[in-house]
Amino acid sequence: PETKLPKVGTTIFTVMSQLALEHRAVNLGQGFPDFAVPGRLVDELARAMAEGRNQYAPMTGIPALRQAIAAKSERCYGRKVDADAEVTVTSGASEAIFDAVHAVVRAGEEVIVLDPCYDCYEPAIELAGARAVHVPLDPVDFSVDWQRVKDAISPRTRMLMINSPHNPSGAMLSPDDMAALAGLLRGTGIVLLSDEVYEHIVFDGARHESVLRYPELAERAFVVSSFGKTYHCTGWKVGYVVAPPALSAEFRKVHQYNTFCTFAPAQFAFAAMIEHEPEHYEQLGAFYQAKRDRFRRQLLGTRLRPLPVPGGYFQLVDYSAVSDLPDTEFCRWLTIEKGVASIPLSPFYETPPAGQRLARLCFAKEEATLDAAISRLEAL
Ligand code: PMP
Ligand code: GLN
Repeated sequence: PETKLPKVGTTIFTVMSQLALEHRAVNLGQGFPDFAVPGRLVDELARAMAEGRNQYAPMTGIPALRQAIAAKSERCYGRKVDADAEVTVTSGASEAIFDAVHAVVRAGEEVIVLDPCYDCYEPAIELAGARAVHVPLDPVDFSVDWQRVKDAISPRTRMLMINSPHNPSGAMLSPDDMAALAGLLRGTGIVLLSDEVYEHIVFDGARHESVLRYPELAERAFVVSSFGKTYHCTGWKVGYVVAPPALSAEFRKVHQYNTFCTFAPAQFAFAAMIEHEPEHYEQLGAFYQAKRDRFRRQLLGTRLRPLPVPGGYFQLVDYSAVSDLPDTEFCRWLTIEKGVASIPLSPFYETPPAGQRLARLCFAKEEATLDAAISRLEAL
């Protein structure tokens, strides 16, 4: 019999990290910072453990963290969020996405995703017995063609997933996008899932258009984020979802039997960080913008052509001046022969655009790491 996930192998992030290790390549593939987490976060975590916060957390998350998330949502996006009824802490954004899909999507229904999209979306949809309907983003600037999204809506459409700032391209939704999206969903029963894990990593004075800014959208949405991205600790796997009470109630039914609750000591640590060091997330855009700008200047000395990066911590490069290999082969070659690991874009698509020659480089790295990669890339 056919397996449940016939199209799924090992994720490209794992494959490329393993290849990087085997060939001692500088790993700019899988997205994770190679620098320390904020000192206070480590202290708060140690303190929580020492104080005995080591047993099950409340199923929905500790009150102090849910309140901190609610306060931050109001402060950043002007939305009053009920910490008890509308915030749930999860084991990473990945768990939040999985639970949200399983909470509302039934077998035989459809979920619209915008390609290229993050790799955990479609398996979650398929395990719910539903079907992912892929709508391509613009191949040049990764903008959304809302007419194409509208054309993809059918009576079976249960959910639409968006992601801004976008992985892998860094593209961000604009206020016009949000208006178009609201117009599209008005009068439908479609639930929105907004993946905002890079919400605080935005550049050049741009504003992150969180769904939480738009009451009409927020009323039908799961808004997902991840402390892994904001606090340089992707290995801790703590995230959360904000959703109206009825959606949160359904979400929690899945969450309570999936993981039940999330790593308790970290919840105390994040609550303290959000409350006492808001500068951390406020300054995250500037922190990464300096890395982005330096890395882009260095890339100009290579034959790779950097695309614009409005947000997130990934730099797309066009490698067509270097090679005509398809992207997965190019990225393998670059790792094995040239010692720099990257991520090809084709695994993010149902149907990759023909002839696309793009690779993703993560710049959430120490300057020394990026310098080491650049000196290898200059030799291409
Ligand atoms: N969505 C996007 C767009 C991501 O880049 C990631 C992290 N790779 C996730 C979700 C998952 O986040 P977490 O590690 O918190 O599960
Ligand atoms: N989100 C990370 C990325 O896009 C990878 C996370 C993972 O390895 N699953 O690189």
